[in-house]
Amino acid sequence: MSDSLSRPAPSSRTVIPIAVAEESVGLYAAHQKIYPRSVSGTFARWRWALVFATQLVFYGLPWLEWGQRQAVLFDLGARRFFLFGLVLYPQDLIYLTGLLVISALLLFLFTAVAGRMWCGYACPQTVYTEIFMWVEEKIEGSRNARMRLDREGLSAEKLVKKWFKHVVWIGIGLWTGFTFVGYFSPIRELGMEFLQTRMGSWEVFWVLFYGFATYGNAGFMREQVCKYMCPYARFQSAMFDRDTLIVSYDTARGEPRGVPTKAMAAGAAARGDCIDCKLCVQVCPTGIDIRQGLQYECIGCGLCVDACNIVMDKMARPRGLVRYATQNGMAGRWTARQVLRRVLRPRVLIYTGVLLALCAGMLISLVVRTPLKVDVVRDRASLARIAEGGQLENVYRLQIMNATEQVQRYRIEASGLDGLHVASDPVVEVAPAQSRWVAVRLQLPYGAAPSGSHKVNFDVRAEGGEGGGVSEQAMFLVPR
Ligand code: SF4
Ligand code: SF4
Repeated sequence: MSDSLSRPAPSSRTVIPIAVAEESVGLYAAHQKIYPRSVSGTFARWRWALVFATQLVFYGLPWLEWGQRQAVLFDLGARRFFLFGLVLYPQDLIYLTGLLVISALLLFLFTAVAGRMWCGYACPQTVYTEIFMWVEEKIEGSRNARMRLDREGLSAEKLVKKWFKHVVWIGIGLWTGFTFVGYFSPIRELGMEFLQTRMGSWEVFWVLFYGFATYGNAGFMREQVCKYMCPYARFQSAMFDRDTLIVSYDTARGEPRGVPTKAMAAGAAARGDCIDCKLCVQVCPTGIDIRQGLQYECIGCGLCVDACNIVMDKMARPRGLVRYATQNGMAGRWTARQVLRRVLRPRVLIYTGVLLALCAGMLISLVVRTPLKVDVVRDRASLARIAEGGQLENVYRLQIMNATEQVQRYRIEASGLDGLHVASDPVVEVAPAQSRWVAVRLQLPYGAAPSGSHKVNFDVRAEGGEGGGVSEQAMFLVPR
């Protein structure tokens, strides 16, 4: 029987022949550990400057005092947020929303101008990875020493070095977790509770959670967070254009690459400036080769620029074979000045305009903001009733929130119906940055208004002027 006859007759459906490879190919590549080589240079110094600046702010801010309290505190339990002189309540959520919108716009603007430089210099993942790698290098040695240590079998030296490294990493992680929790729970009290081993279970949970997240992300996950977990890496390409600054390899100048030879030195062969030393690959924290063009894994840290500049200096060639450039700039061989001139393009101007308008709006609204909030709730337990003296009475609960740093005395008045007046104590004292619930009785002479619901106003005003005043609406019920 011929081969063709042994097969089933072709059906009306199209059968696509599948070639079966002899070797099966895995869908997932095993993770290769990256051993970045340390490098010095302009951009490495900038990275460290940013590490110091961001960590100074993060670790230092919760210890700052403002008057008698922590300067920056998000007191979730008491539902108050302190930002230096500002006291915000959940009712001020609009400011938080504004802040988030401003942050998002800033990121858009920054990405349009300078690509992933945020990732390379200031993102917490990058910053903590940098710190953890520094610790690793101090304990385990240079790139080659670390690779050797990982290759060799178990030894006392290896055990001690690894153990010491992890202890320091965990220490940094836990300190980071403690600081993070210190933004939500007064950090000095938290420190005392820790020393007296009486920290609350939620606080312990968050310190451990955040601490081990730092340890895991900066110690083990590292570049994988940037490659596979960070959503920003995925959508940023939509914000890039041909005038966005990215780290680029100058192919026209570098190729054909090759190891320099004596013949080359004599000018016998036309070779590019890249000597294929791979130093730019070895220093890359995400382990990519920038000479292969723009890759989404590139975090724009500029370390390959530093590495290549060192090589170019040694080869007595001009710096900048790998450099920050734009696609247009690279294609048109533009000067740095020409590249920078393109920064002010329409997309950047629009982002900047919207950003400035939003910032101005937020600022004005904060300046003219009344440092008093009032919530009115009808007392559901008591409907309208006849009080002493033939007065019709409605009872309310008022939450008065003092957003100043001084004790305030507030006077409560009612308006909206002839003869309406406050029958309970009209003056309420509220401590600085505190809120207080008070029961307020409104009375109206019987028969002064027809039956039904009537709109009335609570006018709450601070005595002395600086505490501000607000007017809140409520319904006054007149039964049949
Ligand atoms: S560091 Fe510069 S010269 Fe060396 S391989 Fe990279 S691009 Fe080429
Ligand atoms: S390619 Fe260069 S700029 Fe990009 S991540 Fe690697 S070292 Fe940083």
